[in-house]
Amino acid sequence: MTDIFAKIDSGAELTRQDLVEMLSLPDGGQSQALFDRAYKTKLDYIGPKVFFRGLIEFSNICEKNCYYCGIRRDNKETARYVMTDGEIIRAALWANECKYGSIVLQSGERSDKNFIDGVERLVKDIKKGSKGVLGITLCVGEQTEETYRRWFDAGAHRYLLRIETSNPELYKKLHPADHFFEKRLECLRMLKKIGYQVGTGVMIGLPHQTVDDLAGDILFFRDMDIDMIGMGPYIVHEQTPLAAEFPDFTQAKEAQLNLGLKMIAATRILLKDVNIAATTALQALRDDGRELGLKAGANVIMPNITDVKYRDSYQLYQGKPCLNDSRECCKGCLQRRIESIGETIAFNEWGDPLHF
Ligand code: SAH
Ligand code: SF4
Repeated sequence: MTDIFAKIDSGAELTRQDLVEMLSLPDGGQSQALFDRAYKTKLDYIGPKVFFRGLIEFSNICEKNCYYCGIRRDNKETARYVMTDGEIIRAALWANECKYGSIVLQSGERSDKNFIDGVERLVKDIKKGSKGVLGITLCVGEQTEETYRRWFDAGAHRYLLRIETSNPELYKKLHPADHFFEKRLECLRMLKKIGYQVGTGVMIGLPHQTVDDLAGDILFFRDMDIDMIGMGPYIVHEQTPLAAEFPDFTQAKEAQLNLGLKMIAATRILLKDVNIAATTALQALRDDGRELGLKAGANVIMPNITDVKYRDSYQLYQGKPCLNDSRECCKGCLQRRIESIGETIAFNEWGDPLHF
């Protein structure tokens, strides 16, 4: 480990093996040293600031059937919803009044005309309603180049599309045969070409996943020249095929959380100037999981501003926190949590990654 620290300090390029070593550190003192080192890098490049993105989970209707996800098409036990345009715009403008700087519109994947037109209209209305102030990120899955372009022209400037895992063989094990790794990769390339700030990420601690796969994920972010990273621990959802195969897979919460934190830290150390989110899945494993994410090198938090009545139905995984907390309540709670670790919220800033 001392060697790795010496190597980091010397500025030498870290290898896949170095990343594997970092990700394999035992929990406790050695992992903590890694988190501290990553936090220092974050302070050097970004300062003690956290950017907010108000997250609106506007629909759980999904055409896809990813084996791990609670809102997959074949889960008949989830009531399906679409928020009304009025509800979505009210949530967005609330974020604007709170000076959140930007929002994320996220949903299940759909490719019908109504959906495509609807997202375009919403982006335009939110841009107009906030007088161009609010930044808009979309996270609505794989689409055609034309659709991505229309939404970009309407005013969306960031797009999140997780590759889920950079190992094509593992991707195959986690998805039905008509979901393609290559297509997802092609989407990331299109988004970049169009001019979006592109975010991707992976699930951490999946069945069949090795530490070498995770090291490969970080190199994938680097090689794809990614601006924003949103990754989080995999958490079982009972009503999914992956849970049927591996029911107790995420029982060891501390270990699962620590692996997630090590991924954040190693990514920060290698990539330095990108935006990295401390995702809600960290908090599902431990109450202060997101704060730990910030202290391990993350610099973005996505407070959930979805209307409370829909939260129950948007459970990608089980144990999602804050199901009953209104957006007003989340704001106060998060502010206290962030101040408690000596960081400040960068209100009124889009918070573009330096990397971009
Ligand atoms: N439908 C869009 C966006 C919503 S899903 C898409 O798939 O891109 C957002 C993310 O939730 C996915 O990218 C996946 O990484 C994550 N997710 C789904 N099921 C999960 C689970 N069981 N545990 C942790 N993350 C999960
Ligand atoms: Fe749909 Fe996204 Fe869940 Fe896959 S991960 S089933 S695309 S919502």
